[in-house]
Amino acid sequence: MCGVFGIANHPEAANLTYLGLHALQHRGQESAGVVTSEGGTLHAVRKMGLVADVFSKEQLASLRGSVGIGHVRYSTAGGSLPKNVQPLTAEYRHGAVALAHNGNLVNAELLRTKLEAEGAIFSSNSDTEVILQLMARCNETTLAGRLAWALERVQGAYSLVMTSEDRLLVARDPHGFRPLILGRMRTSPHAYVVASETCAFDLIEAERIRDIEPGEVLTIDGAQLVSQHLPPAPPRFCVFEHVYFARPDSRLNDEGVYDLRVRMGAKLAQESPVEADMVIPVPDSGVVAALGYARESGIPFELGLIRNHYVGRTFIEPKDSIRNFGVKLKLNPVPGLLKGKRVIVVDDSIVRGTTSRKIVKMIRDAGAREVHVRISSPPVKSPCFYGIDTPTRAELIAHSHSPAEIARYITADSAAYLSSKGLAEAVREGPERRFCDACFTGDYPIPFDPPTHRRQLRLVEF
Ligand code: SF4
Repeated sequence: MCGVFGIANHPEAANLTYLGLHALQHRGQESAGVVTSEGGTLHAVRKMGLVADVFSKEQLASLRGSVGIGHVRYSTAGGSLPKNVQPLTAEYRHGAVALAHNGNLVNAELLRTKLEAEGAIFSSNSDTEVILQLMARCNETTLAGRLAWALERVQGAYSLVMTSEDRLLVARDPHGFRPLILGRMRTSPHAYVVASETCAFDLIEAERIRDIEPGEVLTIDGAQLVSQHLPPAPPRFCVFEHVYFARPDSRLNDEGVYDLRVRMGAKLAQESPVEADMVIPVPDSGVVAALGYARESGIPFELGLIRNHYVGRTFIEPKDSIRNFGVKLKLNPVPGLLKGKRVIVVDDSIVRGTTSRKIVKMIRDAGAREVHVRISSPPVKSPCFYGIDTPTRAELIAHSHSPAEIARYITADSAAYLSSKGLAEAVREGPERRFCDACFTGDYPIPFDPPTHRRQLRLVEF
């Protein structure tokens, strides 16, 4: 999970990119970076840390130029290392280029092995660098042509922004796994922006024009916008963006994320009702679905768990005696509210089950009489290979346990999930509007099968 941002034709490109990254901070907290283009020169500031900590006023002032790209990172491929902080920059025979990418390339390892065998030297272990290495081998005469040529040889999920020679290039993989939206500044109509989510537009007062289409490679060169398209594939937008990743105030696929989450909660209430005194969310991930559940069921919505928003990462290894420390740092129950009550607690998903178990214990310790867990998505049974950090199949509790067994493990009185049908109805899935739901179904739009990829690799010429 990462966030990308880009802007063209604006004298405040660096400052606006910096603000855009603030709005996208929920998509990645490990590192942040901005690169601007000033003629043939690129200026870069990139570091590990949160956006607010990475950039000083002086550094932002050094980012000259009217085109900017930015990235916030949560590592999925490559390690959490300074050398992998994006945007990546490179010099090749056509000049300087910078690239930032959200998603995972499923054939990056194989392409990298082949490129290294041919003498390529990599400066990071991020899969994004494979795209730059491929571009360097391409004889197409235009930048967009070289990018499209490279993208035809990679497989997986990518929404990317690139800059070189004062141009902004953006692209989305043919399945359109990750979001990428085009907008323009209200005050300067020739200043175009792109972002992973529309919440970044709201902050800088830009208006949404449209989504970048799956498979589209768009070049913004001054006031000119030129699109080309990669070979098409069935659209498969990541349904988990709607379930959890995106901010509820964003619009994805021109749908308000908030509304879809309310519908998920309402469907969950229809499918898995239970008598209770209150509905409480696990903040922040379960808040909107819990509202939907409460409205549909008529059971009062309460804030029974309070989240500490100021906790970052902690580096203390909890000993057994304080093993709930991690969850307690973030969440604290309201005992006066919960004491003696039958509580429905709503969250977006259960991954390993360990956090849910601690939360249920916390609510019981605060005096709740019954705790019923309701999850606003189907059970997560399979890992994601398209840019989301999920554990292995064996670590996913729903892979090997039924909802009743999970309820026992997390010590809840009952546990129930939204059905696949309920989720499909909530996000209005249809023949023209298909989603990736592989982490629930195991039905991968791009198979992640190394032997298959080896066979495919032999067909890749570069
Ligand atoms: S596997 Fe799950 S998280 Fe990954 S892209 Fe598909 S729906 Fe999204």
